Amino acid sequence: MFFKVNQEECIACGLCALKAEQYFENNHEGLAYLIQDNNSGTHDFNQNDMIKIKVAYTACPTGAIKRKTQPFS
Ligand code: SF4
Repeated sequence: MFFKVNQEECIACGLCALKAEQYFENNHEGLAYLIQDNNSGTHDFNQNDMIKIKVAYTACPTGAIKRKTQPFS
């Protein structure tokens, strides 16, 4: 599964990094990104990763964290 933060929808609340600190960080503007692929949406996360990322995914108040079965282009 592939994940990407749509930074246009991110309100820099920091919740995802709080919930899943191994996967999310906030840039100098406070906008979140995926650490593993620098938010390119090209890293294929395994089942174990997905369980942890899903906590942030469901917690995000704006739905800015996107997921797909294919890499983001
Ligand atoms: S939880 Fe959502 S809105 Fe908050 S920083 Fe993360 S991606 Fe942005």
